[in-house]
Amino acid sequence: MRGELERFVEGMGEPAYRGRQIFAALHRRRLRSFDEMTDLPKDFRARLSERATASTLAVESRYVAADGTRRYLLKTHDNLPVETVFIPEERRDTVCFSSQSGCPLQCDFCLTARLGLLRTLTAGEMVEQIIIALNDAYGVGARIPRGTNLVAMGAGEPFLAFEPLMKALRVMADREGLFIVPNRVTVSTAGVVPKIRELARVEDRPHLAISLAAPTDELRDRLMPINKRWPLRELLAACKEFEESLKPGERFTFEYVMLDRVNDSDDDARRLARLLNRHKLRAKVNLIPHNPADELPYRPSSEERVEAFKAVLESKGVRAFVRRPRGRDIYAACGQLAARRIDSGVNRSGLYQLS
Ligand code: SAH
Repeated sequence: MRGELERFVEGMGEPAYRGRQIFAALHRRRLRSFDEMTDLPKDFRARLSERATASTLAVESRYVAADGTRRYLLKTHDNLPVETVFIPEERRDTVCFSSQSGCPLQCDFCLTARLGLLRTLTAGEMVEQIIIALNDAYGVGARIPRGTNLVAMGAGEPFLAFEPLMKALRVMADREGLFIVPNRVTVSTAGVVPKIRELARVEDRPHLAISLAAPTDELRDRLMPINKRWPLRELLAACKEFEESLKPGERFTFEYVMLDRVNDSDDDARRLARLLNRHKLRAKVNLIPHNPADELPYRPSSEERVEAFKAVLESKGVRAFVRRPRGRDIYAACGQLAARRIDSGVNRSGLYQLS
């Protein structure tokens, strides 16, 4: 935070404005080393370098998919994998960032689950992911196109990283920094109910998305074990409360990963519509065909099945959209983030090995 930097430099016997200068250099100009901050006196830069680092994440690999999606495999100072995805779209671009290295939730269809939780990321590590992706896409310090969106939909469960995530959002919203306001950010949760309630009370909050994946407790228990802790009834009750914090025209999103012959029948669609209509939620449903991986025992629903499922939802008055997979060929799509290296010869076992 800007204030923290001001106090930090004051502790070094420097005036507070130097802290503001560093904040702008890091977040507005998106510089990643003190050496580049040539507006600071040289000896001050040297003293800074002794005490602090301007960047902590190292870019280990960068992959570009056929559709232009880019995936960054980053490494923390303590050698843990972090993944970030840049998704170019016709009308706007999206940066998808991770809130944790690995993930503690054991969603059966998601590859990240196989890593387990390695560590929750700090606010700084979340912001740095965005900076790395923006610099690569637009150039160091170049203006961020209006409408660029952020989604906390990478590895990890953002609501188990609630404090650092909220701090990262405040840092990113700073006018003297990135100036990306929460209204351009969507946070996706597997259903950490107490945090849905807490988010509703946050002033200037991001948009909310909820991963549903099943219309019944029986099936959701199997696919997303978090459902045993907070079953659908409690989840939807929290959503209903959250609704009071929605702005005019705002909706929240339910994500529904489409698994061939598991959760994609017309009956499932009718049950889903009934569930959402019963709670009269101001929501839309994003249907995400499953992104496959050898390690996962599921296959994506066919395109016709997805369209039929969507049609059933719409016939019951539920707004539904199909999310086309992006960056599947570089393992950048939803649920594929597991620090997989795809340079030939390196780590043929696929998943990242911790040294
Ligand atoms: N933990 C958070 C955010 C990360 S997952 C959450 O669960 O919402 C982001 C989205 O990808 C979720 O909707 C999740 O259900 C979906 N997803 C996970 N694995 C997937 C896969 N293999 N194919 C398609 N979507 C997947």
